[in-house]
Amino acid sequence: SDSHFPVPISPCHVDYSFHYPQLFSSDQVDSNKKIQFADVGCGFGGLLISLSTLFPETLMIGMELRDKVTEYVKERISALRATNPGQYQNISVVRTNSMKYIPNYFGKGQLSKMFFLFPDPHFKEKNHRRRVISLHLLDEYAYVLEIGGIIYTITDVEELDPVIKLLSTATEEGQKVARNGGQTFQARRLSLTDFAAS
Ligand code: SAM
Repeated sequence: SDSHFPVPISPCHVDYSFHYPQLFSSDQVDSNKKIQFADVGCGFGGLLISLSTLFPETLMIGMELRDKVTEYVKERISALRATNPGQYQNISVVRTNSMKYIPNYFGKGQLSKMFFLFPDPHFKEKNHRRRVISLHLLDEYAYVLEIGGIIYTITDVEELDPVIKLLSTATEEGQKVARNGGQTFQARRLSLTDFAAS
């Protein structure tokens, strides 16, 4: 249960020297960098590890509910830090319930990217309240995202998104491309301005 993991009482209580020891060691206490990317339900941490070297100046964190999985990600990051000195210092992971504690970790407008990749679909109606993407949580995500910040999401559950397959099959232009044996490419980006417009 939640009582098994500590939760910072506010974003300024997040222990950056614990998560990013090399970047926030005592002789560099003046660093006022903040976490900018959050991988919500990060699982085994593969995305964080790839993003780490792609955005070496950006601090990022994975949030994961399962204790053992979180421990695995911690060990993975430690091992990468040990074998690649100076690298992988900008990623970390925390065991937490993102549905409850996002505002404890991030302040208003702090994040430039949030990732919700293959979130658990929770098919049964009585479990829908466990979905990390739901209408009432969108307010919270909008609060911690900066203006122009981006939410990335992907699913392999087609029935959760009945609109997507229509994009390429229902429009006349899409049908024309298909008849001519062409390819189509989908781009989906959700930003704070999209929320404002909806
Ligand atoms: N994003 C990863 C990937 O694409 O490989 C993992 C996907 S996995 C299907 C969903 C993950 O979300 C699981 O590891 C699960 O423990 C985690 N999760 C589910 N609910 C959560 C919550 N409320 N807070 C944090 N993590 C959660």
